[in-house]
Amino acid sequence: MSLSAPTPVRVWTLCGRVAIVGLLIGGSARPQTPSYQFNDAHFHLTNYIQEGTRISDFLRIMGNTTGRVAIFGIPLQQQWSYRVDGENAPTYYLNTDAPLYYYSFIDAAIAMAYKSLPPNQQARLDPMITGFNPTDMYAADHIRRVLQTFPGAFSGIGEFTIHKEFVSAKVAGEVASLQDPALDRILDFAAEVGLVVLIHSDVDVPFAKEGSQPAYLAQTKEVFKRHPRTTIIWAHTGTGRVVRPIRNHAANLAEMFADPAFNHVSVDISWDEVAKYIVGSPEATRITADLIQRYPDRFLFGTDEVAPADQSKYTRVYEQYQPLWKLLDSETSRKVRLTNYERIFDAARGKVRSWEASHPASAKVP
Ligand SMILES: [Zn+2]
Repeated sequence: MSLSAPTPVRVWTLCGRVAIVGLLIGGSARPQTPSYQFNDAHFHLTNYIQEGTRISDFLRIMGNTTGRVAIFGIPLQQQWSYRVDGENAPTYYLNTDAPLYYYSFIDAAIAMAYKSLPPNQQARLDPMITGFNPTDMYAADHIRRVLQTFPGAFSGIGEFTIHKEFVSAKVAGEVASLQDPALDRILDFAAEVGLVVLIHSDVDVPFAKEGSQPAYLAQTKEVFKRHPRTTIIWAHTGTGRVVRPIRNHAANLAEMFADPAFNHVSVDISWDEVAKYIVGSPEATRITADLIQRYPDRFLFGTDEVAPADQSKYTRVYEQYQPLWKLLDSETSRKVRLTNYERIFDAARGKVRSWEASHPASAKVP
């Protein structure tokens, strides 16, 4: 896949210097709508030490391949503990035993990066608020404060994490829980504003026994059911690196999608660690494709890439899914790759903008 870089538009100023005034996506003189391969419902611009791709470079990486992207940082900062790691500065949570902690400044950094772009590029991004502690009853207040400080920027919250293999136990402070009233408060506030919620919560513990009931399935369904007005995307369909989509996972998802109590819940199929299971055998790919064909409005593609350096790194999960794309009919494939994203995020944008208009920063916060 070739990287088609946007073409800078140059104008000569009176003093003869070149000023770059904007970027024409695609670089063509003829106005045309590029036919994008996918929208990305799950993308981290920065990594676990808050470093990442420059947002203008990322727009270039999106090129004519990616239409729109739900963009966010990572809420957790990996601490560099000199006592533990000495000069080996960790950049990933698996590099060290030192803890992770919630890093709220990431939301301001994402908002400022977004605001640095011209409107035609902003229109291709849906920034998400992620720098809150989901065990804190004040988390919803953080989300409100970010919206009021940066009106016009955000479409949703997440990816934030409740249960995640290797990660949850490393976070400083209390372990997150699906049964925490702080989470209910976050989901209630998201419904009030119209924010999309992208939640990572593993359905099971790592290396669970085949045939056992997934440890967190009942709690997950309970919390989703308690918030029918909240638009929820369950990241990775609830699976992970070693939380395998055991044989019953497709059946559990099918049961949820058939139940009107979960009409507000979709899933994303992001992360190479998830794709490896789905394309791991022809049978797994077929089971997944059959489920998507039955419920084509409930699945979104996402990359879950973290601060990619170039387009080939950015699109590798999309390429990894080629066996799956081949099994879907064209309309279903289009929904998963493109239009489910547009439906969900267009609705959120409209609602969040109108909430912001009626809750300006100067208004007294109750
Ligand atoms: Zn992610």
